[in-house]
Amino acid sequence: MRLSRYFLPILRETPKEAEILSHRLMLRAGMIRQEAAGIYAWLPLGFRVLQKVTQIVREEMDRAGAIELLMPTLQLADLWRESGRYDAYGPEMLRIKDRHERDLLYGPTNEDMITEIFRAYVRSYKELPKNLYHIQWKFRDEQRPRFGVMRGREFLMKDAYSFDLDEAGARRSYQRMFVAYLRIFARMGLKAIPMRAETGPIGGELSHEFIILAETGESGVYCNADILDLPIPAEDVDYDADLEPVIKAWTSLYAATDDVHDQARFERETAPEKRLRKRGIEVGQVFYFGDKYSRPMHAVVAGPDGVERPILGGSYGVGVSRLVGALIEAGHDEAGIIWPESVAPFLIGIANLKVGDPESDAASLKIYDALKKAGIDVLYDDTDERPGGKFARLDLIGLPYQIIVGPKGLAEGKVEVKTRASGARDLITLDDAIARFVA
Ligand code: ATP
Ligand code: MG
Repeated sequence: MRLSRYFLPILRETPKEAEILSHRLMLRAGMIRQEAAGIYAWLPLGFRVLQKVTQIVREEMDRAGAIELLMPTLQLADLWRESGRYDAYGPEMLRIKDRHERDLLYGPTNEDMITEIFRAYVRSYKELPKNLYHIQWKFRDEQRPRFGVMRGREFLMKDAYSFDLDEAGARRSYQRMFVAYLRIFARMGLKAIPMRAETGPIGGELSHEFIILAETGESGVYCNADILDLPIPAEDVDYDADLEPVIKAWTSLYAATDDVHDQARFERETAPEKRLRKRGIEVGQVFYFGDKYSRPMHAVVAGPDGVERPILGGSYGVGVSRLVGALIEAGHDEAGIIWPESVAPFLIGIANLKVGDPESDAASLKIYDALKKAGIDVLYDDTDERPGGKFARLDLIGLPYQIIVGPKGLAEGKVEVKTRASGARDLITLDDAIARFVA
């Protein structure tokens, strides 16, 4: 992408309304625009990151055997009356009437609808287990939308729903998602800690919140420091194997949010020097809720004995849009954002320091074309901004690598490759610069 043709509305001033760093940086870097309280337009740069995050979530869900579909954002209130939670949900739910005076709502979550879909088609245990998921916008009329996309009213969530005949099967489904979540966040360069958690309005018996540590997090958390060093299951993890040992390793070290924290137990189970008391951002949550929805909604399947019973379910959410903010909270410096390669909007930014100079233009274009041809996401700054402005802009938007092309280096046939995270700079030939990224 040529920057001169792109849409990257960088703000020079730090917006006053933004309380936390990730929100300020997202506004300054031209990633989002607030359209109403807690409702954002995703500008091109932000949208690229959102899509990268979405894709990682999708790949890991698929790997774990979940199946993607897409449910609508609008739902019939009657469905929620049937499950018994239309009245229970409260003012967070956006309730709407259509022209026929039918009650609709903008979905804050989808347990009711997926249960309705499931019961319409599945009759036998032979079709179980199943895990269906979608990545769809949700609306929750939060009392205090704040921190930009971290606590929005409209936000993108991945929500998966598992269906099993018995508790042993349901536990395996829960464990698969637990492992998939470890992989999802690790692929984004995040250390997300599964913590025992309360189940909230979704209900149920077993739940973990996946939390990344950050001072600006809204949850108070307590955990054993050793949990930060546990290994993440590899890409070839066998989801059909017994996952109990992995789960055990992660759940036998103390980790809990303040809602369920037990200080005496924390002290009993954790050596004093290992006790961490921090703040964290909830980026995902897994729940087991058994027959909470299937019983009132009569979602039953016949077991091997021919007897029908309500299926046992779990739900598994990832805050896809919140993650974009959380990633910035976890990766930044004074100059701006530092993206991990896996979610960066572009891998490389090329800064042509002297646009209009034939040699600088030719060298920049040669690199740009070679990288593009190799399928690399590259942003070519071909604008007439002065060099200082170009450096500051590239640092702000946080691309992992910068290739700096100018007459001084080119006099020796060289360009500079800068690694954003470490600040390391290498003066190398044009061809070496290309070869560094093109295999
Ligand atoms: P919170 O406690 O932060 O309000 P929640 O527990 O109500 O979140 P869940 O129902 O567990 O949320 O939703 C699944 C995931 O969706 C959460 O783990 C979080 O990452 C994300 N999420 C929830 N509410 C919001 C919001 N208002 N804005 C952005 N992401 C959200
Ligand atoms: Mg939650």
